[in-house]
Amino acid sequence: MEQIRARFTVGADGARSTVARRLGLDVNRRLIIGVEEVFPVSASAVPAFHCVIDPRLAPGYLAWLVDDGRNAHVGLAGRPAGLTAPLPRLLRTFLERFPGVPTPIGPAHRRGGPIPVGGVLRRIVNADGLLVGDAAGAVSPLTAGGLDPCLRMAQLAAGVTYDYLRTGDAGVLRHYDGSAFRARFRLRLLLRDVFSQLRTPATAEAAFWLLRTPLGRAAAARVLFGSGSFPPQ
Ligand SMILES: Cc1cc2nc3c(=O)[nH]c(=O)nc-3n(C[C@H](O)[C@H](O)[C@H](O)COP(=O)(O)OP(=O)(O)OC[C@H]3O[C@@H](n4cnc5c(N)ncnc54)[C@H](O)[C@@H]3O)c2cc1C
Repeated sequence: MEQIRARFTVGADGARSTVARRLGLDVNRRLIIGVEEVFPVSASAVPAFHCVIDPRLAPGYLAWLVDDGRNAHVGLAGRPAGLTAPLPRLLRTFLERFPGVPTPIGPAHRRGGPIPVGGVLRRIVNADGLLVGDAAGAVSPLTAGGLDPCLRMAQLAAGVTYDYLRTGDAGVLRHYDGSAFRARFRLRLLLRDVFSQLRTPATAEAAFWLLRTPLGRAAAARVLFGSGSFPPQ
């Protein structure tokens, strides 16, 4: 049993994906790139979450401003090929133009990096190791949210790893099948393609008009607020 090696690999970017390559597993190829600043603010009466869809600032994704009453999170992300300036400069532009950005009362912390949006990878496990979180592409292709899926998949990965180490039976690895997870993302992957095609503010406005129709509302409710994309906890 000691000779059975189980490795977890982390992160989405090229340097870290060498681990996946060495294991002979799949590597994320479709990525957006994002940056976010977090800074303390005075207590606000009403917490707020603003999303701005403007392909000139955040092509294929959005800019956001969250004020939770203690900290403000201001960021944006987009397709690397569509960015018109370096991300920090686009973030400055957003901060300068967006009305009502809260005043920082302390230092800002910046974080950023690539976010995989191509859906869960097909080959994420073999007898030598497995991928979790961003490394496995476990991010909603549409919303680019990866925290909840990462935790869910990590829990499943831990269970599968435990079963494998306990039994030595490679058959248990079938329960960590990237192709099966990926199948749950067809609609989101399709919408990712649509989102990536929004090249002007006018097309973004038209997309919102469609979302306000009964069909659009039903689709949004299913995709954005439905459950079942990722393995249950
Ligand atoms: C700007 C930005 C904003 C985001 N906002 C949201 C959001 O609001 N909601 C949401 O759900 N998701 C968000 N995401 C995505 C989310 O952060 C990721 O999907 C999630 O953190 C993935 O977790 P992970 O553990 O797979 O990878 P990571 O969080 O990248 O963790 C990997 C860790 O492994 C470490 N590491 C890498 N290589 C090695 C190595 N060789 N040895 C040791 N350690 C190593 C790294 O330093 C890092 O700490 C955002 C991403 C970005 C870039």
